[in-house]
Amino acid sequence: MNKVRSASARLAGLVPYDPKYIPAEVMLSANENPSDVPESVRLELSRQLKKVPLNRYPDPLANGLRAEIAEANGLDADWVLLGNGGDELLFDLALAWGGEGRTFLDVPPTFSVYAANAQVTSTRVVEVARRADFSIDEEAVLARVAEGDIDYVIVASPNNPTGQLASEEFLLKLLNATDALVLVDEAYFEFSHRTMRPYLEAHENLLILRTFSKAFSLAGVRLGYFLGHPKVIREFLKVRQPYSVDALSQTVGSVVYRNRALFQEGIDLIVAERARLFEALRLIPGVEVFPSDANYLLLRLANAHEAWEYLLENGVLVRDFSRSTLLANCLRVSVGTPEQNDRFLAALRKFVMGGRSQ
Ligand code: PMP
Repeated sequence: MNKVRSASARLAGLVPYDPKYIPAEVMLSANENPSDVPESVRLELSRQLKKVPLNRYPDPLANGLRAEIAEANGLDADWVLLGNGGDELLFDLALAWGGEGRTFLDVPPTFSVYAANAQVTSTRVVEVARRADFSIDEEAVLARVAEGDIDYVIVASPNNPTGQLASEEFLLKLLNATDALVLVDEAYFEFSHRTMRPYLEAHENLLILRTFSKAFSLAGVRLGYFLGHPKVIREFLKVRQPYSVDALSQTVGSVVYRNRALFQEGIDLIVAERARLFEALRLIPGVEVFPSDANYLLLRLANAHEAWEYLLENGVLVRDFSRSTLLANCLRVSVGTPEQNDRFLAALRKFVMGGRSQ
């Protein structure tokens, strides 16, 4: 038959995730680390990768890397779950805690994947929008969970794309106010140095997400992990793809994790450049820049979409949120190398000075 019946009605209106990753000389759109894995680590990687048997299935739970991450966090291995990027684990969360008749509390504007996963899994989404300055409307979130019907909540801290941390005090109030599973997405933890890890043992409903994609320069490899109570982790084992973390990724992850101290200098430079970029952006007339604890900055200016086009014409790709709900006229720029940041600043200044942001 040259005809196919329609896909599930759940998919109606869903737009595939599009990172708008257009090749450019200066790639500042995806919050990647501007530097690749250090040379000495790459050498060790090629030595280790040669030994990986490719004809055998990998360890389903990546137990070697799992044990290393657990130990570094002062936990037993059953508190850790590796995934094919944080993205896979976010999907597993929607599968395990969402679904028909279940409800997810979202705090937009935030990482759009959370709401998309809810829709694919027929999970109802309740939104408590952030305030105009992108701070969380804490009272509204606490009041909403008090109604008792929320099954899971995700708070990105720092939040993507706005950059701010959620306060520890608020997160603790939230954990105490509900038995919903609360995911604190710490994808940018290494740039903020703030974590809810100390509260894990005391809060069965706390789950933390981390990734190798940002600070550890492994966006191309796809590795992320949950830290959570074994009772919670066990539920994810029921929905996850058994071999989602392949043998090569497990090996790369172990080598990089063991050598993670070598990434600190690069992280420190990104944090210093973030401060420099923030100050420089503040001085550009008509540009509003929001404080950030991550490796990117959100900015707002008139004609932001035209600014995005102008930057791209000048070889600089940033992320255009100008047409997204709650992010009108906003662009997000990842912190690059000093030279990349200078190119971005020069092009943006030219756009503004040329009167094109009026
Ligand atoms: N959470 C947040 C807040 C992110 O920004 C990202 C990456 N864009 C992820 C999770 C997922 O990252 P990855 O799949 O690369 O681990």
